[in-house]
Amino acid sequence: MNDNQEQRILAVHVRGLDGTCVGCRVWWSRLTPYPCWQVDWATSQQAQAITARFLGGVR
Ligand SMILES: [Zn+2]
Repeated sequence: MNDNQEQRILAVHVRGLDGTCVGCRVWWSRLTPYPCWQVDWATSQQAQAITARFLGGVR
């Protein structure tokens, strides 16, 4: 499921001591300010999944 992928991204892309994303630096040797676009994507996907579950539960 996509849930696992999002959780993996959120587990790796965490805020480093210098305010940059640890995951981006490890994966791509890139200094990206946290939150990076991957974190934005994962959180938005999770929000959509939660909303879908909520709407499904209401029905
Ligand atoms: Zn990142």
